Order: sequence, then structure tokens, then C-alpha cells
Amino acid sequence: MKKFDMQKENFLDSIQKKIERAIELSGLSSEIAEQIRIPQRVVRFQVPIVRDSGKKEIFLGYRSQHNNTLGPYKGGVRFHPKVSEKEVVALSILMSLKNSLVGLPFGGAKGGITINPFNLSRRELEEISRQYVREIFPFIGPDTDIPAPDVNTNPHIMALMVDEYSKLAGKFTPESFTGKPIELGGLEGRKEATGYGAAVILEKLQETYNFSPEKTTLAIQGFGNVGEHFAKYVFEKGYKIVALSEKNGGIYLKQGLDPEKVSECRKINNKIAGCYCRGSVCDFQGGKEISNKELLEMDVDVLVPAAIEDAITKENASNIKAKYILSIANGPLTEKGEAILRQNDKIVVPDILANAGGVIASYLEWIQNKERQLKKKEEVLKEVSKRISQAFDRVWKFKEEKGVSLGEAAFSLALTRIVNNIR
Ligand code: NAD
Repeated sequence: MKKFDMQKENFLDSIQKKIERAIELSGLSSEIAEQIRIPQRVVRFQVPIVRDSGKKEIFLGYRSQHNNTLGPYKGGVRFHPKVSEKEVVALSILMSLKNSLVGLPFGGAKGGITINPFNLSRRELEEISRQYVREIFPFIGPDTDIPAPDVNTNPHIMALMVDEYSKLAGKFTPESFTGKPIELGGLEGRKEATGYGAAVILEKLQETYNFSPEKTTLAIQGFGNVGEHFAKYVFEKGYKIVALSEKNGGIYLKQGLDPEKVSECRKINNKIAGCYCRGSVCDFQGGKEISNKELLEMDVDVLVPAAIEDAITKENASNIKAKYILSIANGPLTEKGEAILRQNDKIVVPDILANAGGVIASYLEWIQNKERQLKKKEEVLKEVSKRISQAFDRVWKFKEEKGVSLGEAAFSLALTRIVNNIR
């Protein structure tokens, strides 16, 4: 079977190398494992819309359905200028592994449109969201492939997509998408679930390595849905968040930042720069603006990449000082970057474990819609905590038994479950 031909270290290449290593470690038959290297189906299509100017414009859309051995495909839809076929393929592989690792009855998928949604009017955004569903309608459905929000898509867009899907299906089908608004069958606790799950993983690390939250400093790259909720949960536990960043740069405060107050301050300023908040004060002396590069290389105990892929590469990995790296973004470490961290004795929690809280909640939303019964936020977060803790314990046990890294252990366990089901 042909492998993707890649010239330089990139996202898909990194993931495929990690898979190869996991195949080696788990002693899986290469013939079966070969089936996992590439997706079962990739759909690429035109997404035409009429702009407000009256001009027709065509964008490119994708859906990669990686593997459905464990159940229907599941994964988000992103709207971003950098979306490409290779990116959605890579992300769909990660989704299969993540669903497998936390024991969900789902396969992996990912989709997207190569577009800058911030250049669209509200009407244009609605049209492109509906058009995307019309194009992939034959390939998705509640028991086939269940999309969800991802970068630059949100509950509002999921509402439009469910509406379009329901029109085409001829019946209201809320279980066709997850990440919907609560009023439309969405789940209480879904928006907090990824950050919450990652906070549970930090607690597991703390129990394992026996460090004290009050003496532990954190730097978090990305203060979006995931980074912000994660920051709020760990702040409540007493951790000291000394640096936070967003796309245009970050902030540092030696005494530790209060994320709730930083959010409030950002609502006013439209950016986190200047929001050096601790207690009720937001202009602390000693607070300073930092670049994302500075944040990643900061002398802290825990570094949390929660923004973008390929944040840590072979170029900057040797400058990372943090002992623990909690990968909440999807694919924030390249394979070479991760290898350097391993050589430097860093403890790296892989994305497929650290950010799995989101898809666990999506699974509960899907069940809620199928059963037409509502779940409460406490029940959702409890289930996230239980499943993600159990997954951490399994990964830890494998790591200890085989003498490998957490990432290698997570990939191996996830892959083995899929391969055993294929068998
Ligand atoms: P988001 O769009 O809400 O937030 C992204 C954050 O990253 C923003 O603060 C943005 O300013 C910042 N950012 C963007 N580009 C950056 C750059 N070049 N450098 C530094 N910061 C940058 O997205 P999100 O939902 O928080 O997702 C963040 C990551 O977590 C993504 O990789 C996503 O795939 C992953 N993830 C999200 C979920 C979820 O439930 N939302 C679940 C699993 C994984």
C-alpha cells in the first residue's frame, strides 16, 4: 500500500512515524497495521457560495474518514485558511487513536474547508456551513459519521448543520452532529470538558510525581475554549499560572495570573495584553508582554501547548525548560521535537490522552440525543474524569512495563485495540 510521500518534517509525517514506532513496540502484524496508516475514505469537494457582492466563489472542502472498526466515524470540522487534505487526514488518524484509547465506540474522522471565516458575513458563513453539509450528506449520519466543532467552528455552526442535515434527511436528527447549542440537544458541560479532562490529567501527574500545586508553575499557550477552561480549573486547584498567550502574543506575571480576571479584562481590551490580573487588580507591577516563543521556552514546571499543531519542533525542542509538557492542542509536537524532549528526560503527555475529555463528552451528547434524555453537567464531568483517569492508568502501566514514553504507550494501546477489533 502506498504511503504518503512527504519531503520534510510535518504533521502527517510525524503521526505516521509515531504509528510505525507503536507498531514496532506492540509487535503488531505489519499487514494489519498497514491498514491504519491511511484513511479508509477521503472526500474532497467544491463548496460554492454566492458572496454578498453577488459573485460566486468556490472553496475546497474535505472529510477524511480514517477507520470505523470501533464504530461510526467521529471528528470535528474546521474552517481555516491552512486546512488541507493532509491536515485533515492527520487529524482523522489522531481521532481514531483517541477514541480507541479512551474506550469509545467510535472511529476517527476530521473535515474542514480551506477558508478564512473571519472574512465572511453572517449570511455567507451560514451558506458555506449548509453547503458543506449538502456536499458530505451521503457520507455522514448518526450511525455513520458524526461531525463536531473544531477550530473556528462552534455550536451556532453545528445548529445550522443539524438543520441542513435534518432537512435533507426529512426528519429532525440532532444526533447527526455533536457540540450543538444546549437548546438544540447540546450537552451541559461539553464546552468545559476538554479543559476539565486535561486538568484531571494534571492531577494524575501530580499524584504520580508527588508535586505540590502551590509550588508548581505553568505556562499555557492558547487562551481559547480549551486553554481558558483548563486554566480556570487548575487555578482553582492552586496551581500558579505565570504565563498565558494567544495568537498575537502573551503575558507574564511572576506572582501568578488569575485566568477568570484575565478573561474579564480581555472582554474589555479585546486582547490579553495588559491583563496582568491577580485578585481584583489588573495592572500588576512586573507584568510584561511576551512572545509565544518566549512562553514556550520559559523556565516553568509545566508547559501546556493548547493552541496549534507543530508548536514544538526540532528547532525549539532543546530550548524547552519545563519538566512536564501537557499536549492539549492536537499535534503540538512534531515527532523530532518529541524525540528531543524524550532525550532530555521530559515527561510529555500526548494529545490523544490529554485532550480526550472533549470527545468523551461528545459521546455522551450523542447518547443523550439518541435516548432523548438530558444529562447534567456534574454527571458529564464525572464521566469525563472517570474515563480519562482510567485511560491514564492504562497508559502509565504500559509505559512502566515496557520502559517507553507516555506517548509511545498511548499510541501502542490505542492501535492495539483497533487492530484486535480488525482481527
Ligand atoms: P480556539 O480557537 O478556541 O482557541 C485557540 C487559541 O489559540 C486562541 O487563544 C488563539 O489566539 C490561540 N492561537 C491561535 N494561533 C496561535 C499561534 N500561532 N500561536 C499561539 N496561539 C495561537 O480553539 P480551541 O477549541 O481552544 O482548540 C485549541 C486546540 O485544542 C486545537 O489544536 C484543537 O484542535 C484542540 N482541541 C480542542 C478541543 C475542543 O473541545 N475545543 C478538543 C480537542 C482538541
